[in-house]
Amino acid sequence: MSILDDGVVAIAEAVRTGTVRASDIVDDTLERIDAGDADLHCFLTVMADHARERAAEIDAAVQAGVDPGPLAGVPVALKDNLCTKGTLTTCSSKILGNWVPPYDATVVERLRAAGAIVVGKTNLDEFAMGSSTENSAFGPTRNPWDTSRVPGGSSGGSAAAVAAGFVPLALGSDTGGSIRQPASLCGVVGVKPTYGLVSRYGLIAFASSLDQIGTFASTVEDAALGLEAIAGHDPLDSTSFDRAAPSLVESLFEGVAGMRVGVIDEFAAEVSPSCAAATFAAAEALSAAGAKVERVSVPEVLHGLAAYYVIAPAEASSNLARYDGVRYGLRVDAPDVATMNALTRGAGFGLEVRRRIMIGTYALSAGYYDEYYGQAQRVRTLVARAFERAYRDFDVLLAPMTPSVAFAFGEKTKNPLDMYVSDVCAVPSNLAGHPAVSVPFALGEADMPVGVQVLAPALGEAVMLRTAMALETAAPRNARAPIVGRDPRPRPLATEGAIDA
Ligand code: GLN
Repeated sequence: MSILDDGVVAIAEAVRTGTVRASDIVDDTLERIDAGDADLHCFLTVMADHARERAAEIDAAVQAGVDPGPLAGVPVALKDNLCTKGTLTTCSSKILGNWVPPYDATVVERLRAAGAIVVGKTNLDEFAMGSSTENSAFGPTRNPWDTSRVPGGSSGGSAAAVAAGFVPLALGSDTGGSIRQPASLCGVVGVKPTYGLVSRYGLIAFASSLDQIGTFASTVEDAALGLEAIAGHDPLDSTSFDRAAPSLVESLFEGVAGMRVGVIDEFAAEVSPSCAAATFAAAEALSAAGAKVERVSVPEVLHGLAAYYVIAPAEASSNLARYDGVRYGLRVDAPDVATMNALTRGAGFGLEVRRRIMIGTYALSAGYYDEYYGQAQRVRTLVARAFERAYRDFDVLLAPMTPSVAFAFGEKTKNPLDMYVSDVCAVPSNLAGHPAVSVPFALGEADMPVGVQVLAPALGEAVMLRTAMALETAAPRNARAPIVGRDPRPRPLATEGAIDA
């Protein structure tokens, strides 16, 4: 048993009061990664030297009577689409396989200012496109609960690193569910904040109008504390809200008495019986805790998926135009520039990324623009308005997070649409720019974790997380990771040949 398993709040408290040294915590983290990550492959880069140096700095600060901050000594893993100065940042793509950013993302600076310690960069679906991490150019991550299954994606490495107990806090990005879906599949908490609450400066762009950075942790309080540290205005991101970061932890334990909760009707038919059952059980738990829970119909949400899979590829096709063999990463030499561009992009991008670029380019092309991109934008507006309508009657909404528990490797790679429908419950919040959180709530098929989703209106993080806290309190402890340091639970060994890496 290590203090690592006690989570963010406990670690920061222990380090700030000098009870535990940050250096010992970092040693524990690195040891666990060393022992377990060959099997799971959460990390693309482990920053052992950096982490040890930072820990020594923090210990020295505490010794000198200086408070290192609210995340003092907390080891954090970063999705490898967040820029880290001097450390490889690959997006799990061959095209950025050797790219070392000259600057830190704003969230990385904020973590540092809060006293956190970055220990490594985590695996993802290439350019955050996917729902299983099977699209990583460097091989998939395995789910710590059952290594024959995916951890979800695209932030699968971050979710699995928290679930495995390697780190108590991790950052991911959520464009269409990439924090919440892997959180659900790995039994951890995953928060997607309101669009604009957290600076995107230094997040490698996928679909800029949807991308948001958020936190993974084992508990709602830990995830909230992490979010408090990274949120707030940043002049380097023109879409960042010009207002002070909200206080989230303060109101976390105020309960849900009198809160109006709407359970979205439309998703129940889209998900497995265990995922629907978890949502209804969550509704009952909130009702028992004093909330006013009712069903609500928001039919527009079901059109979100189709709109998302036009808008996200359209923006991606534009954002990824910059990887031309001239400015970043890979270059395949050729006698002329056009051939060099084509060969570089052909060799550097994986299949799914190329598919998205083609879909997006098509959707934006003259003659089809209005029919596809324009139409998708109109649907986006309808989804946002539908939520606005619902929030006249409800403070938060409740929904399933995923259609199923974590699936097996290869199960959804044959037909891209099978993978895309994993995101059906997730994407409406991205289209609206609203916050949403996945909270581990039950064990479903094969004893795998099932998350339930709480959605809130823009900047409704405090009320959303308060609701999530009430769910966490009601949920069985065995539905939640980390899976180390807990009652022994059968941990199936990797099935030989289960992964085509
Ligand atoms: N699974 C979705 C996609 O493939 C969402 C990805 C994300 O949120 N980054 O686009």
